[in-house]
Amino acid sequence: MTAQIKPIHVIGGGLAGSEAAWQIAQAGVPVVLHEMRPLRGTAAHRTDGLAELVCSNSFRSDDAQANAVGLLHAEMRMLGSLIMREGDRHQVPAGGALAVDRDGFSAAVTQALVDNPLVSISREEIAGLPPADWDSVIVATGPLTSPALAEAITALTGSDALAFFDAIAPIVHRDSIDMGKAWFQSRYDKAGPGGSGADYINCPLDRAQYDAFVTALLAGEKTSFKDWEADTPYFDGCLPIEVMAERGPETLRYGPMKPVGLTNPHRPDEKPYAVVQLRQDNRLGTLFNMVGFQTKLKHGEQVRIFRTIPGLEHAKFARLGGLHRNTFLNSPALLDESLRLKAMPRLRFAGQITGCEGYVESAAVGLMAGRFAAAERLGLEVRLPPPTTAHGALLGHITGGHLADESGPRSFQPMNVNFGLFPPLAEAPSRDAAGKKLRGPERGAARKRALSARALADLAGWIGAGSAEAAE
Ligand SMILES: Cc1cc2nc3c(=O)[nH]c(=O)nc-3n(C[C@H](O)[C@H](O)[C@H](O)COP(=O)(O)OP(=O)(O)OC[C@H]3O[C@@H](n4cnc5c(N)ncnc54)[C@H](O)[C@@H]3O)c2cc1C
Repeated sequence: MTAQIKPIHVIGGGLAGSEAAWQIAQAGVPVVLHEMRPLRGTAAHRTDGLAELVCSNSFRSDDAQANAVGLLHAEMRMLGSLIMREGDRHQVPAGGALAVDRDGFSAAVTQALVDNPLVSISREEIAGLPPADWDSVIVATGPLTSPALAEAITALTGSDALAFFDAIAPIVHRDSIDMGKAWFQSRYDKAGPGGSGADYINCPLDRAQYDAFVTALLAGEKTSFKDWEADTPYFDGCLPIEVMAERGPETLRYGPMKPVGLTNPHRPDEKPYAVVQLRQDNRLGTLFNMVGFQTKLKHGEQVRIFRTIPGLEHAKFARLGGLHRNTFLNSPALLDESLRLKAMPRLRFAGQITGCEGYVESAAVGLMAGRFAAAERLGLEVRLPPPTTAHGALLGHITGGHLADESGPRSFQPMNVNFGLFPPLAEAPSRDAAGKKLRGPERGAARKRALSARALADLAGWIGAGSAEAAE
């Protein structure tokens, strides 16, 4: 029976492509996995193994109760993930994190795919659009997609739609901002398209706070570009904030920290010397990005320095800033809800090229793309995971959850999975099992446990409904 099913083609045998190929084969559909290494390398890969980890060997926290990536691990295990199976088998001690023996892990993923009779592996670069008779293709070529394929994708999507560098400003959880110091207001109360005139959260600085902030930015430890990133352009007005500060102490006050058109309702008679603005980042309204704050400061330094901003003393960061070589699509505009390119639906995208970030997230998007493509091939309904699950939250970020800011450079930027991407609970837990009122960190931990329990229950229901449908 499977001999008559036309194969699905997966381009790129990294984290996403390996998982996608595995999921397709698990559904009983043949798959051809095209990987260009070792014939053609990338600037970061060192081996010819599938699912090579190019940098750290960590899948990050494995705690499904307290961390969204831990929850993603748990969900992927429930969905029969090859990446998680081999990650678990090749675990090395790393406290609460799941770290793996990278060579053993990659060799085992490669072997599992080589041994699978439904998987063929073709070592070749796909150096342009796939042939027209490949009617179902998953492009999972990652942040270092080969230039020939990237050019072909750009020709299809338009030059603004595929970025080659990210320029990431930090994102803060809305509920960690102190609104006793910050306030909602748009500059000059301008409503703008779809706005209310109070769309930004503003954090005021007086002169001493501003001067100390600029000094800290200049002294803060920065990450350097890798050799092959050295030509990273500072483009589209996306200068890192510390580079702006280097141009003079007043530069930021005339740039992203300008205080004009804003009145602090907490101190209406006092004009702020500078203001940091945060703009709503997702439709749910749970995340706000620090406008114009793209940076190459080290992550620890960002947390330390940005928490000196009034209102952000206890900020929890869903994403920290950065600037890297990275190939990724403007997915919310280009992809449909099941990751197909609207302009050419035979192409589906997966992994970091869709605008997720991280090994585990890339594999999870590969898992979804593989399942969607296999269901389509078998004539079954393509079922999206519930938005309350980590998979659904990640898919939502990629295909529609982000609120685009049309006024400046492209605002959709890669992101790790985090609880800010999940729809809020109807009722957040406020008391423990004994009825005692929860406070501060305890309350946050209880909220995460509740979000996690909801996600795992909803995923189990989704898997159950899928099995029932397949059995009909
Ligand atoms: C330098 C660097 C360091 C990173 N460090 C980390 C980290 O420490 N932790 C973390 O979680 N994430 C890290 N990331 C981010 C990201 O999670 C990883 O890059 C991850 O591997 C992405 O998975 P992927 O499957 O989308 O792409 P990849 O794993 O890169 O897989 C893409 C595959 O496609 C192949 N390919 C490319 N073009 C073609 C073509 N035209 N034809 C055929 N094959 C092709 C490549 O050879 C590669 O094997 C890093 C990224 C970079 C660039």
